[in-house]
Amino acid sequence: MEISYINGQFLPHEIIRISPDDRGFLFADGVYEVVKWYGGFFYDMESHVSRLKRSLRELKIGWTDPDRFPSIANELIRLNDLDASYALVYLQVTRGVARRTHYFPSPDVTPTVYAFAWGFTPETIPEEKGVKVMLKEDIRWSRCDIKSVALLANTLSFQEAYEKGMKECIFIRNGVITEGSHSNIFFVIDGTLCTHPESNFILSGVTRKNILRIAKEEGLKIKEQAVSENTLRSCQEAFITNTIAEITPVTDLGGIIIGDGIPGPLSLMLRRKFDERISALRG
Ligand code: PMP
Repeated sequence: MEISYINGQFLPHEIIRISPDDRGFLFADGVYEVVKWYGGFFYDMESHVSRLKRSLRELKIGWTDPDRFPSIANELIRLNDLDASYALVYLQVTRGVARRTHYFPSPDVTPTVYAFAWGFTPETIPEEKGVKVMLKEDIRWSRCDIKSVALLANTLSFQEAYEKGMKECIFIRNGVITEGSHSNIFFVIDGTLCTHPESNFILSGVTRKNILRIAKEEGLKIKEQAVSENTLRSCQEAFITNTIAEITPVTDLGGIIIGDGIPGPLSLMLRRKFDERISALRG
């Protein structure tokens, strides 16, 4: 039986109910996180907790217990017999239940906290294969730094890519590449690793941060600088990053063939180094 978490209780998933007056339902007034379980540990849980705290702060949602996220996640793994599997834990916090008004409930209501876990088999893209992604105008709001559940622009955009058999939709805003619908994007231009700087136009990805750290440790040249759409034809490599898939080389970006049309050496090296760090944690 699948067990999920709601407001302090671990319950059978199918009996969990949320009020229709929950502001998450009415306004997408909430934030979320996703952490990955590597059959024995969560990778960089600390960064996910600190991003969750930041998102809550930015939306002024007063969940007092974000430090409970690791114990909720661990308990969900245990209760669902996922200890030895790859698994993901999703946690969402909304402002809570109140009659629909544009102003926040006054006095404050208790936030709704919901989490669930599921096991999965990672899709391993073979070394010699990259993915095709779509390019599209960024139609999202200008607070993409908040990991809000308001993801309609992301899902609408990704659906378009999905229907075309592409693995991601990459956004362009003001002529520069920002990120993907659910990933960050890196480029290699003249040997330098380039990615959009942290700003209100991208989510500060945990994987992005860890890849930048590994790249620094490996002595790569790094530029946290936006890449313009016009530069794409002269980039040698591209890859997308997120918690679930880690590093995925991109070989076709909106019809532009990247480099030689196969994953490049730096992308593969960073992927290997990331794997090595995971293996080291396995002990
Ligand atoms: N950008 C967006 C819009 C995302 O949804 C995600 C996935 N959470 C990312 C970037 C990558 O973030 P992370 O590496 O923390 O999964």
